[in-house]
Amino acid sequence: VKRCINCEFSFEGATWLCPACGAGPMSSNGFVAFAPNLDHIAAGFSESHFALLASLEAGNFWFQARNRLIAWALARYFPAATSFLEIGCGTGFVLSSVAEQFPQLCLSGSEVYSAGLRYAAQRVSHAHLFQADARRIPFEGEFDVIGAFDVLEHIEDDRGVLAQMHRALVPGGGLILTVPQHPCLWSPQDEYACHVRRYGTRELVAKVRTAGFTIVRTTSFVSLLMPLLIASRWRKQARREQFDALDESRMGPTANAALGAVMAVERVLIRSGVSFPAGGSRLVIARKKARLQ
Ligand SMILES: [Zn+2]
Repeated sequence: VKRCINCEFSFEGATWLCPACGAGPMSSNGFVAFAPNLDHIAAGFSESHFALLASLEAGNFWFQARNRLIAWALARYFPAATSFLEIGCGTGFVLSSVAEQFPQLCLSGSEVYSAGLRYAAQRVSHAHLFQADARRIPFEGEFDVIGAFDVLEHIEDDRGVLAQMHRALVPGGGLILTVPQHPCLWSPQDEYACHVRRYGTRELVAKVRTAGFTIVRTTSFVSLLMPLLIASRWRKQARREQFDALDESRMGPTANAALGAVMAVERVLIRSGVSFPAGGSRLVIARKKARLQ
């Protein structure tokens, strides 16, 4: 069901024109745009950011490992899903992996910066892609599963976004989230990435529950590599090195493969039921309550 972001009227229909108030979305870079004013504010930043991201993602162990974890979570907890919306889909790296492994899923992707959607459209041509503000999702009771992967930490009103995701899900629908964890790991890397916060271990779980969800599973990940992560940040601080945002992405193929292997071990443990208490990131899998019989 569509939801008018102008007057909040819910309606079904082939077009986006609201039958109550007549409002409809605009267009931005050729995509249906629900919040074009936000898109235009950061046009310059987002162009170069997504170009860089698109060139890094495919060869980087961290993005690959996160994709595999997301695919596992989808298959394990929501095997009957037929529709999936990713909030903050960026360049479509996650969506393209989901498309490959779950060809039966009807895919949608929302992103505030349409510059990212141009890459996503190339990677997953059959996905429904639109520009929108995560705080005003134009759907209600529509999707079987919604995911947001390293998105909430960018948004001041994360509670509002969780409430919007809850409303956009069908009763019994699933939520999959990843976020950076541990405020004590805050570094120039977070500032460069425009993070508003890193989450405390229980913070995201509490906020997800408050939005009306039941927690299905939660674990830290990037746990086995956490000592390495801490050591690398300490070393940089001690040497007062000039901050280089790309340093951690620019490793050689051997180091990348080694770190990928550690992440694979960690995934085996998570699949077998181990939930890590600490780690660079947190995964939360939750469910909206089913409609009462
Ligand atoms: Zn309306």
